[in-house]
Amino acid sequence: MTQINQSQAHFDIIIAGGGMAGSLLAWCLLSARPELRLALIERQSSDKQSSERQNPEQAQSPQPASFDSRSIALAAGSVSLLQRWGLWQDLGAKASPLKQIWVSDRGHFGKTQLTASEYQQAALGQVLEVEHLGSLLNTKLSAQPNLSYFQPDFITAITPAIDQQHIQLNSGAELSANLLVIAEGGLSQSRQLAGFSVSSDDYQQSAVIANLALAQDHNNTAFERFTEHGPIALLPLSGQRYSLVWTVARDDAAGLLALDGPEFTAAIQQAFGYRAGVFTSAGVRAQYPLTLRRPNEIVRHRSALLGNSLHNLHPIAGQGFNLAIRDIQALLLALNDANDPGSYPVLRTYQQLRAQDIKRVIWFTDALVRGFSNNSRLVALARNAGLAAMLLCDPLKRPLAMQAMGQGQPYAKY
Ligand SMILES: Cc1cc2nc3c(=O)[nH]c(=O)nc-3n(C[C@H](O)[C@H](O)[C@H](O)COP(=O)(O)OP(=O)(O)OC[C@H]3O[C@@H](n4cnc5c(N)ncnc54)[C@H](O)[C@@H]3O)c2cc1C
Repeated sequence: MTQINQSQAHFDIIIAGGGMAGSLLAWCLLSARPELRLALIERQSSDKQSSERQNPEQAQSPQPASFDSRSIALAAGSVSLLQRWGLWQDLGAKASPLKQIWVSDRGHFGKTQLTASEYQQAALGQVLEVEHLGSLLNTKLSAQPNLSYFQPDFITAITPAIDQQHIQLNSGAELSANLLVIAEGGLSQSRQLAGFSVSSDDYQQSAVIANLALAQDHNNTAFERFTEHGPIALLPLSGQRYSLVWTVARDDAAGLLALDGPEFTAAIQQAFGYRAGVFTSAGVRAQYPLTLRRPNEIVRHRSALLGNSLHNLHPIAGQGFNLAIRDIQALLLALNDANDPGSYPVLRTYQQLRAQDIKRVIWFTDALVRGFSNNSRLVALARNAGLAAMLLCDPLKRPLAMQAMGQGQPYAKY
């Protein structure tokens, strides 16, 4: 990694946003195509990213740091890809396998249990604290000579030319690239500068997250409980802890963050009940306002969207980062050995590979959010089956990918 301020530098690919999706893409690109010259532009300084990681509720930036105190559920297919990309070898020991999931509706129908064994799997997925991914990627990327870092910095202007994008940074540096990948999260500014239009739908809800210590073992069981106020998810973590994602009305989130530790623990115990056991204490809390944002295009001239900049979802089904992993896989596939990474065939292939999957997941997630209070048994069954399918589905169906590409390239390479 070169911490320089190169003015007038040209790169094959510039990645705007060095969060979970952007950093992972940089690592994958440099592993698959080490000859590529890459630049990564990250708005927050590395010091700030780590201090917000310790204490996210004191974060001053409009978007929380990507590698904060969140934990994410990774579907089986995502874990396979992280393994293929040489990361799971380090991360696996820090993750917790999901052996079973209890899905329930407070006040309705009882519960549904999804177990790994009924799907002939060792685990339904894995739960990972994102800071582990952050520090691993940081270490890996710092050893890359072909990566230039611009941090803290951000894009102030994008001027398209036929064969490249000219990019002006806040620091005054002027860069150009064959391809600009925008991975700046849901509130991306560069997405707007590059001319993408975005539809958004505010759920008027916030997710409050915290890690909860337990009085007993969780047996690798996750819970998703649909209440009249919104879903509550508990994901098992190492050391008798749960990662809590508590969806509440937007106006209620600040009050929950203001409670002291014992008060917060009592509040979640009351809201969730005792099915997951007794919560003994709660760690650092943070809140995320929840809005569905979907750009109307995936690619434009020499620009591609990736991660939350492409699909900013409600966390109810734990799909955002799983989708981002599939975005990266598709971009690697589309790039293959292309000499010009921003050429029309590359961008068209990426778009073709991603369109249906993103549409399907957005539809399902949105239906879950809007239908959580639906009293129909059929809706509850469909929801539970859908959640299982989301966790277990293959990242990109091989035949579909081959068909979309219209050629027989070895998909397994990526
Ligand atoms: C409570 C919660 C629980 C979740 N649980 C799950 C789960 O279980 N499973 C799952 O798959 N997903 C989950 N997600 C979704 C997951 O967190 C996101 O999909 C993931 O963070 C997307 O990463 P990203 O890099 O695209 O965006 P972000 O994480 O938002 O990162 C964007 C990065 O870009 C930087 N940036 C912003 N603007 C600029 C700019 N103008 N210039 C340069 N840099 C900029 C930011 O500083 C940041 O580093 C959850 C999300 C939430 C909120």
